[in-house]
Amino acid sequence: MELKLKREELLRRQNLIGGEWTDAVNGAHYSVANPATGGIIAEVANSTKADARAATDAAAKAADAWRERLPRERAEILKRWHALIVANTDDLAAIMSMEQGKPLAEAKGEVAYGASYVAWFADEATRIYGDLIPQQQRGKQMRAIREPMGIVAAITPWNFPLAMIARKIAPALAAGCTVVGKPAEDTPLTALALAALAQEAGVPPGVLNMLSASRDQGIEAVGDWLADDRVRKITFTGSTAVGKYLARESAGTLKKLSLELGGNAPFIVFDDADLDAAVVGLMAAKFRNGGQTCVCPNRIYVQAGVFDKFAELLAARVGALKVAPATDPQAQIGPMINAKAIDKIDRHVNDAVSKGAKVLTGGKRLTEMGPNYYAPTVLAHATNEMLVTCEETFGPVAPLYRFESEEEAIRLSNDTPFGLAAYFYTQDMRRAERVSRALQAGVVGLNEGAVASEAAPFGGVKESGYGREGSKYGLEDYLSIKYICQGGLD
Ligand code: NAP
Repeated sequence: MELKLKREELLRRQNLIGGEWTDAVNGAHYSVANPATGGIIAEVANSTKADARAATDAAAKAADAWRERLPRERAEILKRWHALIVANTDDLAAIMSMEQGKPLAEAKGEVAYGASYVAWFADEATRIYGDLIPQQQRGKQMRAIREPMGIVAAITPWNFPLAMIARKIAPALAAGCTVVGKPAEDTPLTALALAALAQEAGVPPGVLNMLSASRDQGIEAVGDWLADDRVRKITFTGSTAVGKYLARESAGTLKKLSLELGGNAPFIVFDDADLDAAVVGLMAAKFRNGGQTCVCPNRIYVQAGVFDKFAELLAARVGALKVAPATDPQAQIGPMINAKAIDKIDRHVNDAVSKGAKVLTGGKRLTEMGPNYYAPTVLAHATNEMLVTCEETFGPVAPLYRFESEEEAIRLSNDTPFGLAAYFYTQDMRRAERVSRALQAGVVGLNEGAVASEAAPFGGVKESGYGREGSKYGLEDYLSIKYICQGGLD
């Protein structure tokens, strides 16, 4: 065991179903590995359809009592959960770093970030308003009220093991829904620890159910939720391909979906930008989590007049990043999640170089450090023909493209099926307004690289999905509107 926790009981190896910690029905397990070393951290339940069904049964049994609680009572439980998450930051961050590889300081940041959604939605729980519709006919009263959607299935990726699931569970519980959850195969331990803290906070049995599964078994388990008409909503964060699959497969029972999918974010630096600020913004947006975030700039468009200067400033900063295991307090870039991720990064960089890109810094695996490390990389002279242009690299690679005009930068930025985040730097106010409107993205960073906040509506357009997480809009995804027309009042 590689972990040193203050509270060992937070390292859960079983599923939480109906308030009980249980093994998979068939007793199967799979191993969760540390991406820095390949060492095994824990054996966890390898759930199947039978476990998914048991979780849905538990969520259905708990649903009525939970939705009938006063919003204030649900809020009180969420506040206690928030306090427990914050109080156990060190353990949650240690578990997260160990299973996901992100540096400890970043993991602590993610705990605070994920917890902020719980606090936010605790407050929002008490603000679920309806409408009294202005009278249209004598003797009739028309009202619109908001009701919880019912059972929610939450499916999350490995890159933010805590924040992604917290920002689904918190609004669902606030709205009065019950939840069945499945984190990614690689990172179930943080989600299970979070569920343990929810239980400790007083979330009643069956209101939150969490199960772990390896990839193949997980597909079957989720398949059971997709086909079960008691599950009324799927909230998913992950790749566009899987999002489309879930939309197709859940059509049989016409579920409501929230899909937070892949991105291919452009980052534009205009001639009139504050270059130092643009470098700082790019470092924050690009190299967080080793470049493994959906809002990471994937294509960096730099106007011709400042290209060389910007490339020089950026390469100096990127070359100085400290690559180290999560346990090193100085680490800024940890290992990538697994061998598949490293292979993809390597393939993208080799492809770019073979097509004329110039490596300004990095450009290689760091095999001497371990199996999953890659040197933070800046590539100049990137072009549209390269893989880095059309696929998410999901690693610490910054390809720079030269452009001449504003119109060209907008056209290139929008020339993708994706539309999650987009960033640009300019000091011209009129350009700021024009470009903000022209970019096809759900989230725009204008002279800002750090855009995430629990108070902001996060989500994409085009093939980056639909639905919003965070802010007052985030609750809407878990509510349906009921119109009540009352007659006989005259
Ligand atoms: P992924 O392969 O789509 O997996 C996401 C989740 O879906 C995991 O729990 C995964 O389980 C599960 N899953 C995979 N195939 C499934 C299937 N056929 N049926 C049911 N469940 C299935 O994505 P990923 O590689 O883990 O995450 C990276 C992607 O997520 C990137 O594209 C990134 O941009 C996107 N992302 C988007 C946001 C956003 O807010 N828009 C945030 C973070 C990440 P297994 O782990 O067992 O495969």
